[in-house]
Amino acid sequence: MAGFFDGAPATEASGLVGFSGNRIDRRSEHRSADSVAVALRDAAARLYLLRGDKVMLAAEGQPLFGSADATALGISAGKAVLLGWADEAPRLAAAVPDAATIDEAATPLIDLRTLASTGGVSPEHLGALAQARSLLFWHGRHGFCANCGARTEIANGGYRRDCAACGTQHFPRTDPVVIMLAIHGAGIDERVLLGRQLQFPPGMYSALAGFLEPGETIEAAVRRETLEESGIRIGRVRYHASQPWPFPAMLMIGCHAEALTTDIQRDATELEDCRWFSRAEAEAMLTGTHAEGFKAPSPIAIAHRLVRAWVER
Ligand SMILES: [Zn+2]
Repeated sequence: MAGFFDGAPATEASGLVGFSGNRIDRRSEHRSADSVAVALRDAAARLYLLRGDKVMLAAEGQPLFGSADATALGISAGKAVLLGWADEAPRLAAAVPDAATIDEAATPLIDLRTLASTGGVSPEHLGALAQARSLLFWHGRHGFCANCGARTEIANGGYRRDCAACGTQHFPRTDPVVIMLAIHGAGIDERVLLGRQLQFPPGMYSALAGFLEPGETIEAAVRRETLEESGIRIGRVRYHASQPWPFPAMLMIGCHAEALTTDIQRDATELEDCRWFSRAEAEAMLTGTHAEGFKAPSPIAIAHRLVRAWVER
């Protein structure tokens, strides 16, 4: 008798996107009040050091620092978070304090997007850096209790902040964003809907996207966002892949969506342009050979994977 997953692909589409190569063993069930202090006492412990979305490099392609390096920058156990373990060695992360002076000639600070798009660090580090960036951003913005306004303290290895005044526990949040490739027609007449935001690089078109709202399913958000941005009505929705997107703490939920209409009514506040593209055009955009210079997003982006999966089907 066939099993439920027989015939399902062994390779996850989510494994192909940027920031997906995280090998950190989180051991979340073992986190405790002194997790960070204990981890930092391990001679094998290494830290990622970030300032905003910039990553400090110890050497080319090497973003890990020892505890002594962190201490020299004024980072104490109370400021670090424990990501987990890699090869049985604790991996932590800390925000470089504003007051710390950085010798950028020796230890450059490189933007995380740049590292991702240029392969400046290995995929394994990129996944852990996404975890670090999102978690540190949350700590930076949650020093005070949203319930009573008192100061909060880091707890549970960095995965919680506690308010001693009112007893509320606060947990890091991840914001879900739907990103969808609307597809219309069939066979050689099949086309996909792509749009341009004003801030995109010249010629780049991408899948439409928007934040999932409270009380919404993924499918409902795909239909609402597509209608709002382009005027196109969506029928069936199929999940394809997801991607951690640490700018600052999003989860991109990639879907293919069945377009029921073709008349585009673009939301000019969101999109500079929005149009239908044939399979031949989309293929040329993926390979950088489009006659008019139109391009798809870079291979690290889930939008690239949504278009590629459709082109290659
Ligand atoms: Zn409180």
